[in-house]
Parts: sequence; C-alpha cells; structure tokens
Amino acid sequence: MIGKISIFCGPITSGKSEELIRRVNRCKCMGKNALIFKCEKEERSHTFIVSRNSLSLQAYSLHEPEMALQIYDLMEIKPDIIAIDEIQIMPESIVSVVRHFASLGVDIYISGLDKAYGGKPFGYLSQLLAVADIVEKKQAVCFNCLDDTASFTYWVNEHQLEARCFKCFDQFVI
Ligand SMILES: [Zn+2]
Repeated sequence: MIGKISIFCGPITSGKSEELIRRVNRCKCMGKNALIFKCEKEERSHTFIVSRNSLSLQAYSLHEPEMALQIYDLMEIKPDIIAIDEIQIMPESIVSVVRHFASLGVDIYISGLDKAYGGKPFGYLSQLLAVADIVEKKQAVCFNCLDDTASFTYWVNEHQLEARCFKCFDQFVI
C-alpha cells in the first residue's frame, strides 16, 4: 500500500511546524513509530524541530536528502510515519526521496513555505503539492494590518521576513 503524503504549508509564522509537531505527537499516541528530518541549514536548532511557540521534536539533520534513505535503511524497526520540517530549504532531490518513502507504504508529513519572493510558487514544492493526498494551507496574522488572513511572505531584507495579507503585499512578481 502506498503511504499518504500530507503537506502543511503557508507563509512564515503560520504555525506549519507547530501543526507538523502536533500530527507527529498524535501518531505517537496511536503507537506509531516516527522518523523526523530537518534540513541542516535550518537555524532554530540542529537536532530538534522547534516551532515558534516552543514545541519541539527530536529530529535528524540532513546534509542532503539522500541521507534520509541511508538512515531509514539502518533502522531495525522501520517507521510508520516520516515527518520533514521546512522542506523548501532542501535540494530538489527531496521530491524523489519523499515519493520513494511513500512507495514503501510510509505516511509522510511535510511542512514548508508554499510561496517564495514575489508570491511565486516555492520551486519544487508545487510538484509535491500536486502529488500530495492532503494539503492544509495555513494563514498567519499580517505584520502590517493584523488581519489573520496573511498567506504571503514579505522579504524585508535577507534576514527579516514578515507574513502579509493580500492587501498589504506589494512585492508581486509576475
Ligand atoms: Zn495586512
């Protein structure tokens, strides 16, 4: 049986990682084994997924997506589910890694930014959204007007990003 792919996506500060952690914990309560990955570049923590409200889960940091396959192969008890946080930071080969795990019957939970600079689709994430079984789009509170419908990530500069609603987002790139 093919595993299900679930994606929680949205702008920065929309609670994507929080949702991922909540789902993984629920699976653990159901007696399922979880294997959790994050990208090494993600800076909040090296060995944990940490949400902005300080929920956390222990995770393997990946140098490259193929490392996930090696870790899986070495596990004596195979996981029932695999979770991947902030997937948009990883190289594109993560797409085939995800599909490979799904082909083994493992359910996959993914969090990621769906829109890049200019409101454009975030690279290969659109490929994963197309093959996902469940997609949950999260919205954040707009940094500018405090409306709770922010679905865009606004690039203030390289280090500062803000969630913005459609009305307050003026960086559209066609
Ligand atoms: Zn706004």
